[in-house]
Amino acid sequence: MQALDDLVGLLTRLPGIGRKSALRVAYYLLKTDTSFSEALAERIRGLKASISFCSICGAYTESDPCPICSASTRERSLICAVEQPQDVVTIEASREYRGLYHVLGGLISPIDGVGPEDLRIRELVARSSGGEVVEVVVATNPTVEGDTTALYLKRLLEPTGVTVTRLATGIPVGGDLEYADRLTLARSFRGRTKL
Ligand SMILES: [Zn+2]
Repeated sequence: MQALDDLVGLLTRLPGIGRKSALRVAYYLLKTDTSFSEALAERIRGLKASISFCSICGAYTESDPCPICSASTRERSLICAVEQPQDVVTIEASREYRGLYHVLGGLISPIDGVGPEDLRIRELVARSSGGEVVEVVVATNPTVEGDTTALYLKRLLEPTGVTVTRLATGIPVGGDLEYADRLTLARSFRGRTKL
């Protein structure tokens, strides 16, 4: 059945969805009310129209600048550099951090052909050089790419007089920020060290 095969083909492109799960989803949609698949299709269609990137920090937002960048209650002397937009949500959930964010949009990875110029590093340097920023907390994952990116940022940012710190060892080596629990993340922020 072509319609089913086409849907399964698309679903398997989603992260964490194999052929088996895709088939289960497809059969579920076939069985369930039409109103459900219509609502789902509508949500998917509207997602990118209503959520975009903050022009300052690069996080996902419904308004530009995002609520964090525009809040007067946030510490403007502190910028936390993260790999991807969803890391902002993870760190916000820990309720430990009150500064601003900067989404890099990836990590330096020569093997994958990702260099510093492919990331939002120039924007971070510009934001950090205004005199208001005292510390940049690098919250990249403790992987080779995360370490490389952190050291690159340190070399680039330190001449501007900004202190560059890295999250403490709370996140397991090779682990993922996304899967760190709130408490671990909170501890990592408190125990961050100068790079
Ligand atoms: Zn923002």
